[in-house]
Amino acid sequence: MIIQYHMGTTPAERGAVLAKLKEWGFRAQSNPGEKAASPDEQILVDNVFGGVQDVHRREIGTFDCVKQVISIEGVPQNLALIRSGTRQAVTIPNPHGGGPVTIGGGQFVVMAGVCAVDPEYTLASNQMAKQAGADINRGGAFKPRSSPYDFQGLKEEGLRVLVEARRSVGLPVVSEVLDVRDVDLFMKYDVDILQTGTRNAQNFELLIEVGKTGKPVLYKRGFSNTIEESLKAANYVMEQGNDNLIFCLRGIKGIGHSYRNQGDLDEIVSLSHLIDRPIVYDVSHSTGKKSAVWRIGNMAAAGGADGIIMDVHVAPEHALVDGFQAIDSEQELTRMISMWRKLAELTHEAA
Ligand code: PEP
Ligand code: MN
Repeated sequence: MIIQYHMGTTPAERGAVLAKLKEWGFRAQSNPGEKAASPDEQILVDNVFGGVQDVHRREIGTFDCVKQVISIEGVPQNLALIRSGTRQAVTIPNPHGGGPVTIGGGQFVVMAGVCAVDPEYTLASNQMAKQAGADINRGGAFKPRSSPYDFQGLKEEGLRVLVEARRSVGLPVVSEVLDVRDVDLFMKYDVDILQTGTRNAQNFELLIEVGKTGKPVLYKRGFSNTIEESLKAANYVMEQGNDNLIFCLRGIKGIGHSYRNQGDLDEIVSLSHLIDRPIVYDVSHSTGKKSAVWRIGNMAAAGGADGIIMDVHVAPEHALVDGFQAIDSEQELTRMISMWRKLAELTHEAA
């Protein structure tokens, strides 16, 4: 519960309330009220945790110094992500291509393209993705690599190659921004969706800066974050007045799993009841295995995801990053995308 005190409450009066809470074994965290203009006018607020029941709320409400008792028990803390109460769509304007693309609200979207942009194969790979039915092209120009000795991406040149390919393919592009210092560059190339990666899931300064752009943001869950932590972090984007947030699950660190990461497919179901943002599943980075992509995608689509993001490459043996998980057959890609769409449509009502 949240306790709001009347202006001018004395330390002794508040002390009596805190003593009661202590007696019950609750933990109280003090916060100045939001409207506090100066310390003298501070509206005191205590957030109280630890198994609060109606009976406690009632009794606290009887203290003269208490203005209001608000129940937060059972209410998720990720309020910005549940602004409207119903699942919302995000529309990507796509000014450089063939018309807007909507994700969510019954529109199932596939984002497919190279993991890392390369000059030789990006156009052909992104074109193949479009031919097979993808709606958006992905492509990393800045790559967050575990080792400094690994290829770090073509950086600005990669953005140039990606948007050059966009001119022919016509699909909007999503690309990962790693650093606040690069946000302007992404704006310069007018990247359609700014992706924030799993390793930056709690880089709050970056989330604030991408949020401020007003561009659609594909926020990836942190691989070592609880779902609650990632939802809270995603709120940094939305608190900048940016509602165009797409929440992406991509597997987490775990034990005893068979693939690159431990899948978090079940969160599609749980989040679909909790947040009103579109939910996307990364079938490539969660599995790290080409052979798993199709069926994991079936599960995501049937489970209520609004979209799938995946790696494709026409020549995976030459891919600069993650060739092993890239789908390279247009025929196979066409079949899987059409199956995912059917599954999404069949199960949409249930989600
Ligand atoms: C990616 O999509 O290229 C990527 C690096 O993903 P993640 O942040 O999920 O590892
Ligand atoms: Mn990758």
